[in-house]
Amino acid sequence: MGASELQRKANLAELLLHVARELGATVEPDGVYDRFHELLADVIQHDGVIVSSFDADTEIFHCEYAWADGERLDASIFPPMPLNREGGGMQSRVIMSGESLLVNDVREQVKDEGTYYQVDAAGELKKIPDTGPPAAQAAMMVPIKHEGRVVGVVQLMSDRVTYAPDQLEVLEGIVAQTAIAVRHARLQKEQRRLAVAEAAARAVAAERAQAAAVLEAVGDGIFLVDDEGYMRFWNRAAELLVGVRADAVRERPAAEVFSDWAAIAEQIPAAPPGSTPHPVTLPVAVGGRELWLSVVAVRATPGVVYAFRDVTSERRLDEAKSDFITTISHELRTPMAAIYGAAMTLLREDVEFELARQRELVEVIAQQAARLSQITEEVLLASQLDRGAARVERAAVDVAELVLAAVRSMAPRVEPATLEVDVRPGDTTASADADRLQQVLVNLLDNALKYGGAGKVAVRVEPANGTVRVLVSDSGPGISLADQERIFEKFFRADPQLTRAPGGTGLGLYISRELVERMGGRLNVRSELGAGSTFVVELPKV
Ligand code: ADP
Repeated sequence: MGASELQRKANLAELLLHVARELGATVEPDGVYDRFHELLADVIQHDGVIVSSFDADTEIFHCEYAWADGERLDASIFPPMPLNREGGGMQSRVIMSGESLLVNDVREQVKDEGTYYQVDAAGELKKIPDTGPPAAQAAMMVPIKHEGRVVGVVQLMSDRVTYAPDQLEVLEGIVAQTAIAVRHARLQKEQRRLAVAEAAARAVAAERAQAAAVLEAVGDGIFLVDDEGYMRFWNRAAELLVGVRADAVRERPAAEVFSDWAAIAEQIPAAPPGSTPHPVTLPVAVGGRELWLSVVAVRATPGVVYAFRDVTSERRLDEAKSDFITTISHELRTPMAAIYGAAMTLLREDVEFELARQRELVEVIAQQAARLSQITEEVLLASQLDRGAARVERAAVDVAELVLAAVRSMAPRVEPATLEVDVRPGDTTASADADRLQQVLVNLLDNALKYGGAGKVAVRVEPANGTVRVLVSDSGPGISLADQERIFEKFFRADPQLTRAPGGTGLGLYISRELVERMGGRLNVRSELGAGSTFVVELPKV
């Protein structure tokens, strides 16, 4: 190798090193082509450059980069071209052979078969030779290779000069560097895209997790029924309110969860997303129970979201209140009518009453007035207990003594043998409020006499296990299991609609239990239908 050849090789090596450095610093694939072209312009004269990629599967070329007459062109104006296997067309020849091509008689070549395009500076594409001879006279075509396969072609064209083999060598070197740089930049771009996609996916997942956590934490029951009528979501509050676990309902038809689902869904109109839904209160049978739910429904992409609150107790209270109003007006009307009647009778001027008759009428007035004030007292005390404003003392009280006093106070109202008292041996002193306890005992005795039928009422006092117990038993109709807890609710009266039922406000047992509990004791009932009832007061010993 001569000295000048050595010098040429050294220059080429230096040039390629420079190219490699420059291209390596470019991160966008598109920027790499621009840089490639700038570097090329310094070393080889040319009027046009086209870089095409080749897809071996489809055998189609796509233009990736084009430059002509001093302008970068829009690569998309070049139509994708199929490989010409017959060897026509210079690009196809390069692809098929994997070898570079140097042509200094382009005008001759394009007369033969093959499809040639020419682009002018305005970006206008012309097919050659339809539109006359091409402007280029010389062209160099270099394959872009990756792992031994041809994946594209770079074409360099000149309208004025011819090219020499050593220029082809320079171009081959630059193309090889460019191919590496483009691949590298593409990989980096793909990596960035993946990183961004991953971050976005993570953000979505985090948002989902947060939304799910919020839905689990809210106090309202929430469930989602999809368009096929399947339960897709059931939150923790729904589990608690309805008493049915999520695993038992998720992915099951809503109609299996709520009996009569079709009718329920029809009653709750689903609001479009973003609008304010109106709550609907309705009874539903779910998990073997009947509940009153206040429900709103909102349309969601995969179905309808329902949010609900359990309003069963509010509903019961409402019912009890309306029962109470009925009861109380009835309760007030009876003594009022009696008082009014007795007073009007006494006021009659046309009749002279005997003294005994006058006394009878005044007694009616006194008795009924006492009843009126008792009703008022009960209502007042109940509301004080509600507000926590009722004072209850706790002192040592002989329960047996109080029971005897209560029974004595009942005596004028009953046949002598109706009430039986049995005080068991032992200390019957307990911690209680004497007046309040008296009130409780009178209420229990009164109920036993009122509701206990014609039979006897037995009262027993016994010390038991750190407590003193009072048992008031009657042999009346008893109380159904379903009502045994409810009779202690405010305003509750079993069968209040029975016109024959003795009068009452439904407050007595509520007040009694509240008072006993404030003394640290308990009030319960044991009863069986048809076999009488026993109310048990338990008070702690001092
Ligand atoms: P009231 O007697 O004013 O109705 P209570 O709170 O004392 O109110 O009693 C509530 C209900 O419990 C009564 O209406 C009655 O239906 C039932 N009840 C109370 N005591 C007895 C009893 N000894 N036997 C049967 N039912 C009873």
